Amino acid sequence: MLAVVPPPVTVRVPAKVNLHLAVGDLRADGFHELVTVFQALSLTDEVTVAATDEPGLEVYGEGERRVPTDGANLAWRAARELAAYAGRPDADAPKVRIVLRKGIPVAGGMAGGSADAAAALVGLSSLWKLDVTRDELATIAGRLGSDVPFALYGGTALGTGRGEQLVPVLARHTFHWVLAFDEEGLSTPKVFGELDRLRADGKPPRIGSHTPVVEALASGDPRQLALLLGNDLQAAAVSLRPGLRRTLRAGVNAGALAGCVSGSGPTCAFLCSDAETAVEVAAELSGAGVCRTVRVAHGPVPGARVVGGDDAP
Ligand code: ATP
Repeated sequence: MLAVVPPPVTVRVPAKVNLHLAVGDLRADGFHELVTVFQALSLTDEVTVAATDEPGLEVYGEGERRVPTDGANLAWRAARELAAYAGRPDADAPKVRIVLRKGIPVAGGMAGGSADAAAALVGLSSLWKLDVTRDELATIAGRLGSDVPFALYGGTALGTGRGEQLVPVLARHTFHWVLAFDEEGLSTPKVFGELDRLRADGKPPRIGSHTPVVEALASGDPRQLALLLGNDLQAAAVSLRPGLRRTLRAGVNAGALAGCVSGSGPTCAFLCSDAETAVEVAAELSGAGVCRTVRVAHGPVPGARVVGGDDAP
């Protein structure tokens, strides 16, 4: 009897922006305690998984040459973790082909690698017909990286611990963003290291509590939210990449309500009052010569979802 090969599964997964990112002191385990408010944006990667006897991984699109295609790729690590969790005999080298179509900038502070890992978990649990809940996937996701669980759930959420302990946050509005991609990525560990160095010198000041941001999200008023965007990593990212100061100024001069560095940068995220303004800001920013590429996005959007299907866990 011929074995039936299941059809490939494609999953769309969002990038994140941190509306609030408070970084605590360095812990004994080498991580920093974080309090963050994430929002998932309509800037996405697509991940296709297919059963095959010739396992492998291909990458196309944004930053394709800078993404590893071996076991270091987070999507591949996700496949191995899930196969082991499911007790599959091919757990060391899962018999799958993974194709990443990237729209999220690589090493851009928007958690693109984490997004691909979350998408691989959702895609493979559908391909392998596993009986797992999204909460079970989130436990595996937390082992892969701090930002992976959020990419599974999407929406808007408060993250604590290393950012992986999530509570949903009510966001009563669609917020409109413009994203400015830089020429080159920034290494997240280097940015944290730079923050530790700046703090050892007694600067910069730390951002305050996340409560006002949560209240602004509930009010749905982008003007209120714009006043409260805050990121402790911004000073470190700007210290390593001084040109970001010019980019941040250019976005506000172009009509954005406010701008901030996204996560560890160097992508800059600009909050706009509405969709039309976002398109105008994007056009002006593209002509300003302060970044490589500009994208318009909105949030919140859902987390990793099978494209054209609703059978995902
Ligand atoms: P962080 O989640 O730490 O903020 P980031 O968004 O700044 O990360 P990523 O795009 O996730 O950055 O990439 C960080 C590094 O991870 C890249 O330089 C790349 O070498 C590696 N990497 C592994 N898997 C992937 C993937 N699927 N997509 C992109 N980068 C990946």
